[in-house]
Amino acid sequence: MTDTPNKVELTDAEWKASLTPEQYRVTRQKGTERAFTGEYDDNKAEGVYRCVACGTPLYASEAKFDSGTGWPSFTEPVDERNVETEVEGVFFMRRTEVHCAVCGAHGGHVFEDGPAPTGLRYCINSASLRFEPKEG
Ligand code: FE
Repeated sequence: MTDTPNKVELTDAEWKASLTPEQYRVTRQKGTERAFTGEYDDNKAEGVYRCVACGTPLYASEAKFDSGTGWPSFTEPVDERNVETEVEGVFFMRRTEVHCAVCGAHGGHVFEDGPAPTGLRYCINSASLRFEPKEG
């Protein structure tokens, strides 16, 4: 294990104070925003999507694709060290949760029905992201 990102740990009260109610619900309580309501579902601008809670770069616009699901969808993270996954549920209900490796903020889920080259679809709530447009 090298270059493991520093961990950010705040108390529940501190997270609540630093996030909007919707951001808190999604990132700390594993909530899901309603499809097609998120700020970035339709965003096609170039830039980087950072963790809304701690600022870690998570996804790049180059990896974003239109999945038609109503949530921002990416084929891969900026850096695999910046996201962690956790298998949820059992048997046919099984799915893989995705969260920020630095602060633990829930982002969404990753599915194995994405486009080439990875075949992965990171289905991420806009409320867990903060988009930073590319300069110039
Ligand atoms: Fe984070």
